[in-house]
Amino acid sequence: MSSTTKVAVPNVVLQSSFSMPVIGLGTAAESNDGEAIKQAVIEAIKVGYRHFDTASAYESEQALGEAIAESLKLGLIGSRDELFITSKLWLPDNHPHLVLPALQKSLETLRLDYLDLYLVHWPMSAKPGTWKVPFEQEDLVPFDLKGVWTSMEECQNMGLTKSIGVSNFSTKKLEDLLSFATIPPSVNQQQKNLTEYCKAKGIIITAYSPLGAQGTRWGSNDVIDSELLKDVAQVHGKTVAQVSLRWLYEQGVTVVVKSYNKERIKQNLDIFDFSLTNDDYQKIRQIQQERKVKNGPAGFDVIDHLWDGEN
Ligand code: NAP
Repeated sequence: MSSTTKVAVPNVVLQSSFSMPVIGLGTAAESNDGEAIKQAVIEAIKVGYRHFDTASAYESEQALGEAIAESLKLGLIGSRDELFITSKLWLPDNHPHLVLPALQKSLETLRLDYLDLYLVHWPMSAKPGTWKVPFEQEDLVPFDLKGVWTSMEECQNMGLTKSIGVSNFSTKKLEDLLSFATIPPSVNQQQKNLTEYCKAKGIIITAYSPLGAQGTRWGSNDVIDSELLKDVAQVHGKTVAQVSLRWLYEQGVTVVVKSYNKERIKQNLDIFDFSLTNDDYQKIRQIQQERKVKNGPAGFDVIDHLWDGEN
């Protein structure tokens, strides 16, 4: 791909009937430098990204909002409607009466009138006002899934977000949710493969940390350093990152991938000109899949009830 080529990223249609580009730029980092995010988003828009993933917890909403405003000013996009912006509800706001104010705060920080997708970040609630990670046992309180989801539905009905969804939900929690939801979740953003269940229910999976989140406290180098993936990448003249993203794409999974590096931002979009072979799939199947964020944002052992034994 030349430096000026803009990639046309395919879209998937969500249950809400809105379209979402299959690759988005992530904005979670160990320490989020506003200027780095802003430049990364502008670069990303130049090469064809239209989907951006943020969360109140990442503290990247403000810089993303500034980058959107700057991109409009520079004429890189004609209108905000060309973008797909996702944000997420953080644990201390994961209470029925705090959903709407939290979304309004995110919109204000992003300087937007609406989100494209608002997600319940984790199926866990913290005492309002506690804003530290990891959360201690005394910070967490029972999660009112039904009450929170009803408030999420109200946000969509008010037009403040086009679609709503969840993140880090097990099959069991999705089943609970679907038993009373008036608006089903459009997306489950997650790490573990729940493809069959979600496909059957029309829920689009967005894979986070698709490159293993190397260099972060929640990730590792296992993906990027995989010798098997290096072999596959070499055959195609691609990088390990591109093979990993292509593998997810071929399984009908959408991804959010983070890079603040100009070349890697471009590289991660350049996955639509090759296909993996049966031989590649045989090799990739040998790699053991494993959930890395076992306890989520909790600083103590919650793995059993967080994932409902679907570890
Ligand atoms: P990731 O995208 O798997 O990996 C990011 C790391 O890989 C960064 O260190 C980045 O460094 C590096 N990288 C990017 N492209 C590369 C390439 N082509 N070759 C080599 N290294 C490359 O991890 P992530 O940031 O955890 O996940 C992506 C996004 O998912 C997040 O940013 C966030 O938006 C979302 N997320 C959601 C949840 C959730 O609970 N819902 C949890 C975690 C993440 P450079 O920046 O230097 O390129």
